[in-house]
Amino acid sequence: MCQHQPPCPPAGAPDRQAAHVMASHPEQGWSLLCNGVVAFEDTGVLLPDGRSIPPRQPTHPNVTALLPRPPRPVTACAAAAAS
Ligand SMILES: [Zn+2]
Repeated sequence: MCQHQPPCPPAGAPDRQAAHVMASHPEQGWSLLCNGVVAFEDTGVLLPDGRSIPPRQPTHPNVTALLPRPPRPVTACAAAAAS
């Protein structure tokens, strides 16, 4: 599919997304590259053989859910002790 010189990275190469964009559909969030790869705006990739590669920087809802911590009563005690 690619007719560039020098040729773009093939779909199986790690730098596959360096290939030229043949069709861009930003309203739908994807672009078709000249090596047959469909690149999504979240960095996910659909290969010509049907395999998909998840986004490189996915959101981590599980990690985000762990971030809030219960308030520490020590802080209240420290404030009471300081006054
Ligand atoms: Zn190309």
